Amino acid sequence: MIVKKRDLPIKLMKNEAVFRRLPEWHPKKSLIQTDIRNRRSGLKGEREVDYFLSLLPNDFRIYQDLRLRCNGHKFQMDFVIDSGKGLYIVDAKNNAGQIIFGSDFNECIQVYDEKRKILSNPLMQVLRQQSQLEKLLKELHIDIPIKSYVVFTNPHVKLTKEPGCSYDLSAVFTVDQIHFHLLEKDQEYSKVFSNNSRDRMKDFFLANHTPETYNPLDFYEIDSRDLLSGIQCPTCHSFEVVRRHTCMCKVCGNRSRFAYKKGINDFFLLYGRQFTNKQLSEFLGIDRSWVTQYLVSRTDINGTGNTKARIYHSPYPPNF
Ligand SMILES: [Zn+2]
Repeated sequence: MIVKKRDLPIKLMKNEAVFRRLPEWHPKKSLIQTDIRNRRSGLKGEREVDYFLSLLPNDFRIYQDLRLRCNGHKFQMDFVIDSGKGLYIVDAKNNAGQIIFGSDFNECIQVYDEKRKILSNPLMQVLRQQSQLEKLLKELHIDIPIKSYVVFTNPHVKLTKEPGCSYDLSAVFTVDQIHFHLLEKDQEYSKVFSNNSRDRMKDFFLANHTPETYNPLDFYEIDSRDLLSGIQCPTCHSFEVVRRHTCMCKVCGNRSRFAYKKGINDFFLLYGRQFTNKQLSEFLGIDRSWVTQYLVSRTDINGTGNTKARIYHSPYPPNF
């Protein structure tokens, strides 16, 4: 049973908004494209894990994408599963090629397309998350055993270790094995936790989950003046859309009634939780303020204040 669903992938959505509004010449464009591609593939991998976790018994409580705070440091876990007898942390990795766990303490190498790349060791990461989670649960006086796993979601990945590697790689495998490992491990635990303890854990997780806040312009050090203004054509993706009775693209002639809505979302994704008519008009490249006002009135966005000082507020979650 899924108790907490994965948050909207807001970091990805923000990166996509920056990407579509960055001109082709911009030096950060290809870096952002790579980050978008990686995150999309990461999400696809996590959905793959969702499928195999759905094969677990229904009383297993699944928390997707849980982000907690320990000693002021936030840590994010892709999956936490409470079986009633143990807690399992599962970290999903979407790397392809060959993954080699080296003999040196922290080393993990990816070999892909004949290139070698050093990765931060996923087993170390997940064990760090485990120790943070243990600390939090200790404060709640819940002494439940925790086991961590790393699953690789690419079906063609090859996992190997060098001779002399000190890691116990029984906690690292491909995604199709996850439910077997969980069920097998669960049989080793004899103590069954009461629903009361499990509910306390649930309340704690849900109340303390902190969605990530992220500003893509700060992160990539992009000057907002570099971004393209205007309404984007849903067909040819140019920003040459003019707003008359409908949104019409000057490049391909496509007509769309609602192309401006994506532009308004882009504003929220890039600049935060509110705008004035003037700010949105500039952003959408609309030179008549009454047109902007009319378009906003056709959305579910509410405003406060009167006339020129009116401020419109985001209907989305705080980290959008
Ligand atoms: Zn077009």
